[in-house]
Amino acid sequence: MPAETHLFSCLKDNYGVLLHDPESGATASIDAPEAAPIEAALQANGWKLTDILVTHHHADHTGGIPALKDKYKCRVVAPAAEADTIPGVDQTVREGDKVTVGKLSGNVIETPGHTNGHVAYWFHADKLAFVGDTLFSIGCGRVIEGTPGMMWRSLTKLRDLPNDTEIYCGHEYTAANIRFARTIEPDNAALVAREVQVKQQIAQGEPTIPVTIGDEKLANPFLRADLPEVAALIGMAGKAAAQVFAEIRARKNKF
Ligand SMILES: [Zn+2]
Repeated sequence: MPAETHLFSCLKDNYGVLLHDPESGATASIDAPEAAPIEAALQANGWKLTDILVTHHHADHTGGIPALKDKYKCRVVAPAAEADTIPGVDQTVREGDKVTVGKLSGNVIETPGHTNGHVAYWFHADKLAFVGDTLFSIGCGRVIEGTPGMMWRSLTKLRDLPNDTEIYCGHEYTAANIRFARTIEPDNAALVAREVQVKQQIAQGEPTIPVTIGDEKLANPFLRADLPEVAALIGMAGKAAAQVFAEIRARKNKF
């Protein structure tokens, strides 16, 4: 049976998301920004929390873990490289490890850059990827612990997922990301179309995610740093993709 997901808001602009296996009844929370909205989402669906899959150690992704683990006795899965800084970890994971939520099966993809141990969880049969703060719709996470080159490699790993993979990220930043992206590629038709769509979604109080990898590839400048036309647009024709990416990221930091 296919996986079910439930997306909801947490904290100021974080997303919470539940991944549910209807066959076994298992339910995972991807990260745990705060306990109360996650409990409310579980209750609304009649689901019981069995697992928390952590993408990285930041407090706005882990703050809810202690209360949820106390209440549900759920298993906490977290990146091996950050297990020391994440509360209640039961299982650590690395690149290529398999993670199960009931009968659902996912793979761990290491995506360092935002933090050095950051991981994404890819449930290929269900065409879902939970990418934390590595990739946002029309944006990417700040490079806080790693290097721009590291972040670029991580983003290309996510870009390599099948085009119909639905991406769930950690924050609602899409509208601001589009405003920035249009300064890099003002005439990108896919980006202009996405801007119209996102304005409509926000006006209707709808989330702007999930998005597919295929759509992001057409409009997200951070996934397009190896295209000659993008390098040319920012005056870096012929430069290496990682350098072009670093320049776009630096501009976004100042935007
Ligand atoms: Zn973060």
